[in-house]
Amino acid sequence: MSAEYRIGDVIQTRKPHPCGNDKWTVIRIGADFKIKCLKCSRIVMLDRETFLKRVKKIVQRADNLS
Ligand SMILES: [Zn+2]
Repeated sequence: MSAEYRIGDVIQTRKPHPCGNDKWTVIRIGADFKIKCLKCSRIVMLDRETFLKRVKKIVQRADNLS
């Protein structure tokens, strides 16, 4: 499942961050995922299972893997 996500992808979560934003950039992929809030820039670390549950959809694909 997680192989479909890439660093740099913008994802939408089912529940918004307390700041009101629900879009995040994926900044780390692995046993743990890190996502960065696009509004307040706070970084949240989630285990893979929690990440997969929280993601609603991919908003924008990373353009490149560099
Ligand atoms: Zn936020």
